[in-house]
Amino acid sequence: MKKIAILGSTGSIGTQTVDILPSIEAEVVALTTNTRIDLLEKQARALQPKMVCAFDETAAKTLKIALADTDIKVLAGMEGLISCAAESGADIVVTAVVGMVGLLPTMAAINAGKDIALANKETLVCAGELVMRAAQEKHVKILPVDSEHSAIFQCAQAAQGNRLEKIILTASGGPFFGKTAEQMRHVSREQALAHPNWSMGAKITIDSATMMNKGLEFIEAMWLYDMAPEDIEIVVHRESIVHSLVEFEDGAVLAQLGLPDMRLPIQYALTYPARVACKVPRLSLAEVGKMTFFAPDYDAFPALSLAKRAAQEKGNMGAVLNGANEAAVGLFLNDKIAFGEIADRVAHALETVPYRKQITLDDVLESDRLAREIARS
Ligand code: NAD
Ligand code: MG
Repeated sequence: MKKIAILGSTGSIGTQTVDILPSIEAEVVALTTNTRIDLLEKQARALQPKMVCAFDETAAKTLKIALADTDIKVLAGMEGLISCAAESGADIVVTAVVGMVGLLPTMAAINAGKDIALANKETLVCAGELVMRAAQEKHVKILPVDSEHSAIFQCAQAAQGNRLEKIILTASGGPFFGKTAEQMRHVSREQALAHPNWSMGAKITIDSATMMNKGLEFIEAMWLYDMAPEDIEIVVHRESIVHSLVEFEDGAVLAQLGLPDMRLPIQYALTYPARVACKVPRLSLAEVGKMTFFAPDYDAFPALSLAKRAAQEKGNMGAVLNGANEAAVGLFLNDKIAFGEIADRVAHALETVPYRKQITLDDVLESDRLAREIARS
């Protein structure tokens, strides 16, 4: 029985992780939420973990009362999140929290020798260099949950020690495909939240609408697969059937296909290298009929160029890009700024926060703080 901790078990990825548990041999040792304590209580009663955490202190107090009749330890805050990651006796930690709040718990889990099923891409965007180095030192596996990175991981198993020449990341293009920046500038929150192919948390759905999500995934791929930014290509693929591709030196291109459903990449990260039956609907190419591919429109989606620039510069620029983006998306979701301003504020933060080439974890946290402050001002 594999022991699993699920950070962010009440979110989109978290609940889908819980959903596939019956297909795999696993024991859940920890669950966490921010404020969704009703759902967390239900999950805890069903799965009987050793410990749970509500990041929000007030929510944690209510949760403690709700679970008073059980032996489950109830923790709070960052300290609680770190305990669930590193001290719950997990073999593997699913990082399904949203945002760079996942960085410290992920680092703690790696330092405690836990494998990581990584959904929380913001962690790699902010501190990919530090995370990958720590994982290497501790002989810890970082298993991708993001569908594109899982696709690359699956295709790369055909490499047999040969070099990947190129990674081709597919992007759905989001709800505003084909629009100009001008046409998108004042779209509403509801329009931006209406993703054509995937049902996900609010933050990543807005990132998909600005295409910052693909920018973050570009940086995520660079760190996960140790690729130069020049060797990662983005292609818009409206149907989200081809989840990504790799190209080898001889020109052979391999892809992984399937209907858009996160349960398969989540499950594969947890059962790797085994493949077990999964309850996702099966792909019928005849039903799909045709698939379309386009070059991305960098003028309409400036977030893509900003992310590529951060990828080139490395150092603290990933943390700046991500921190400013998290703050700006938060402002947009609270109706404080226009959709088009999200990328403007990220660009301004990249211009303003001083560049640092060599970084420590403290530099990442400080760059994140500064970037948020600038994006909010
Ligand atoms: P979500 O908003 O649905 O869920 C986020 C989870 O994190 C919830 O359990 C929430 O309670 C918790 N959380 C939120 N803020 C927190 C905080 N400050 N401290 C601690 N916990 C907090 O998000 P999601 O769509 O499940 O995405 C989670 C991560 O997975 C993101 O990094 C996202 O980019 C990535 N991802 C998601 C999908 C998807 O299909 N949803 C696909 C690929 C990657
Ligand atoms: Mg993805």
